[in-house]
Amino acid sequence: MAREARRRKTAKKRLSPAAKVLGAFLVLILIGLVALRVLAWRGQRVEGQMTTLVNPWNSSEATEYRPQLTTVQGVQVDEACAQALQNMLADCAFEGNAPVLDAGYLSRNDLEADPTRSREEDAAGYSEHELGLAVDIRDDENSDPASSATLQWLQDNAWRYGFILRYPQGAEEQTGVPYCPWHYRYVGESAAAQIQQLNITLEEYATMFYNDSAEVVFEK
Ligand SMILES: [Zn+2]
Repeated sequence: MAREARRRKTAKKRLSPAAKVLGAFLVLILIGLVALRVLAWRGQRVEGQMTTLVNPWNSSEATEYRPQLTTVQGVQVDEACAQALQNMLADCAFEGNAPVLDAGYLSRNDLEADPTRSREEDAAGYSEHELGLAVDIRDDENSDPASSATLQWLQDNAWRYGFILRYPQGAEEQTGVPYCPWHYRYVGESAAAQIQQLNITLEEYATMFYNDSAEVVFEK
């Protein structure tokens, strides 16, 4: 009995209730700090990844981007751009246009198996469609891109939703892909605004703003 009492007394001495509370409090603070750090890191990572560069010199497989697929209008896209895409298509239609989502995510096999996809933008292994962040949009009422009200609206407004016209006229030397009025790429709102305002390509944007160790190759 006496020994038991002594043991209890010793244990009590070792860790008082106040110390226990303080200990638990410190552990909680530590967990909170780690969680905040992880969240902040995730945020930076996601924002940086939206501008992942894929072009004829940078393969999709060399990037770390792996899409999480969801569906918009029956077309698979990465969930990072799904809400913005839905909003953009809805607003475009609300303005009296007839946008139709023709393609979004395409796997390497999809690209290889489809003989109609022979343009540079569709080269298997080097296509943005493999990221799930690129979409092809057409005008349901006008198949001529030059006079399409839908494509004109997109050219003026897509950046507000975080999308850019990826292969503009006269930029083939930088992008490696001829003018392509229907192909839009999600890069996130801030990058899209900068690219629009500076009137530059994603390649030029990457040159100006890349500050991590990602290996990006540019045509000399
Ligand atoms: Zn495309």
